[in-house]
Amino acid sequence: MAGKFGDYSCDSPWALIESAARAMKSMHGEGIEFVLWTGDALTRSTSMSVELRLLCLRNLTDLLHRTFKGQFVFPALGHEDVGVNYTQLATLWQHWLPPEAVDTFVKAGYYTIEQRSKKYRIVFLNTNLWLSPVDSRMLHRVGSSTVDNTQDPFGQWFWFQSVLENARKKKETVYIVGHTPPGVDDHENGAPTLNERHNTKYLQTVRLYSDIIRGQFFGHWHSDTFRVIYSDTGLPVSWIMMAPSVTPNTLVGGPNNPGLRLYKFETNTGEILDYTQYYLKLPEANSNGKANWLIEYSLLEYYNLREISAITLHDLADRFTQSNDNAFVRYYAANTVSLPREVEQVWGCGGPLNGVCALHHYCTVTRLNPESYRECYSSYAYALASTAPSTMRPYFALHLLSMVICAEVLNDR
Ligand SMILES: [Zn+2]
Repeated sequence: MAGKFGDYSCDSPWALIESAARAMKSMHGEGIEFVLWTGDALTRSTSMSVELRLLCLRNLTDLLHRTFKGQFVFPALGHEDVGVNYTQLATLWQHWLPPEAVDTFVKAGYYTIEQRSKKYRIVFLNTNLWLSPVDSRMLHRVGSSTVDNTQDPFGQWFWFQSVLENARKKKETVYIVGHTPPGVDDHENGAPTLNERHNTKYLQTVRLYSDIIRGQFFGHWHSDTFRVIYSDTGLPVSWIMMAPSVTPNTLVGGPNNPGLRLYKFETNTGEILDYTQYYLKLPEANSNGKANWLIEYSLLEYYNLREISAITLHDLADRFTQSNDNAFVRYYAANTVSLPREVEQVWGCGGPLNGVCALHHYCTVTRLNPESYRECYSSYAYALASTAPSTMRPYFALHLLSMVICAEVLNDR
């Protein structure tokens, strides 16, 4: 039943992947500084052989290499990118990774890239080492039956912290790139993703180095979203961006239109200035037999922001809770990459936008500690269920939220 460019219930066919790479190349060819490949190139199928996995990764690597000839593509390992060992991957990607990066990559899939002339650095984490629980296929891959996931698996923490410390000494700014972000499930149930200890440690580390961290980029959820990280006293100090996936299918939660993102940044300072989100209207592409990738929106203009910072993104999240603001309606459309209404209604917010849905997203964006998320969600949801006639609930909930949030900022984060 799937068309040439795929289906909302399927992962990407080759034609879709190829069209995505070509579209970005033809629109922005020479202006691209580097490409971030945030993982999960492989399928969730457990029956795929190592040979087939390697072949898929090789095809994708070749495509990106051919398409972005003059640029570097930097991959981060996704939670599905397992079953192939680090040495095989490092060999596959050696034309992109400098020797120092290969040295740490072959150890456990993490590395850093230094842009010496420009004073910024990119740190690529292997978030698979911090998942809860660690995928048993990873234990097999590293040839060990006793990986201790609670302390510092494969020394990634020690390495990460020393990279940050050195960057500060050298007055470099830093981007962090990984696959699975800290915090809770973007789609529905607020389930944590990283092991609790690693989640907490990650947030603490970002707080400690928020003066040099200029951006964090993750994937995993397939949806378009962001996170705000707060200091111990409740001030917004850092942010995470998650671009939506090329694949339209999501295992948990609803599907999305295929998406690709172009960030605009100041190359000397590393400051992220804006981004443009591109997308493909899947049904239209299939019926025309042609993939017409279009601009979906640009961040600053779409939400009427003056800049990208932890403070402006915190303010944006707060606007989700205000009934006289359309920020949440816009966010939700972007979250599913402008999924057609009739498809969206089967999933996501379960039909028309409502207060509970806005609440989930507000809490997900602003509470990266699973316990804080639960408190945020349940306290407001209780008020939502126990008051006002049902038709009034969305409005009531939104008003209620905007009133209570201010009081909560300082003690909950
Ligand atoms: Zn993933």
